[in-house]
Amino acid sequence: MIYYIGLGSNLGDRLQNLRKARQWLSKQGVVQKQSSVFETAVWGNVEQNAFYNAVVRFDSHLRPFRLLRKLKAFETEYGRKVSELWGPRIIDLDILLWDGNEIDNAILSVPHRYLEKRAFVLYPLAEIEPELILPSGIKTQTLLKQQFVGEQIKKIAEAW
Ligand code: AMP
Repeated sequence: MIYYIGLGSNLGDRLQNLRKARQWLSKQGVVQKQSSVFETAVWGNVEQNAFYNAVVRFDSHLRPFRLLRKLKAFETEYGRKVSELWGPRIIDLDILLWDGNEIDNAILSVPHRYLEKRAFVLYPLAEIEPELILPSGIKTQTLLKQQFVGEQIKKIAEAW
C-alpha cells in the first residue's frame, strides 16, 4: 500500500522529533520520498510554539487501521520517552492519503479531512508530488498556487 503521511511537531526539539518519526516509519515500511520540513505559525495563540511539518510517501504492507494503531502507539510511546509532561503531543502523525478506497468512519478518514484545507499539508505534499491529483480533481501544485499564496510558512530544512 502507498500512503502519504503527515508529520508534525511543536514541542521540544521539533526537527529531531520529525527525524525520529521518519526513522521509525522506515522500520514499518519504505519511506520512498520525504518533503522538506516547513515551519507554520500558529494563528491566534502566541503561547504555542510554531509547528514543524513534513510529508512522506510511505510504502507498507500494513492495512490502514493497523497502520493508524501503530502511528498512535508511536506518538504515545515516543512522547513519553521524550518528556513525561509533554506526552504524546510532541509528535503528530496523520494518514493523508492512500492508494485504496475512501475510508470514512469515526476512527479513520482517508483522505484526511484537512488534506486540501491546510497549508502545512499542501506545501510539503506539493513539493514531493506536484502532479498528484487531489480528491477534488485539482493538482497539488495548482491548488497551492490558487489558494495558499502568501501563507505564513517557511522552509526550515531540505535534508533532515
Ligand atoms: P489527532 O487530532 O491527529 O491527534 O487525531 C485524533 C484522532 O483522529 C485519531 O485518534 C484518529 O482516530 C482520528 N483520525 C481520523 N482520520 C485520521 C487520519 N487520516 N489520520 C490520523 N488520524 C485520524
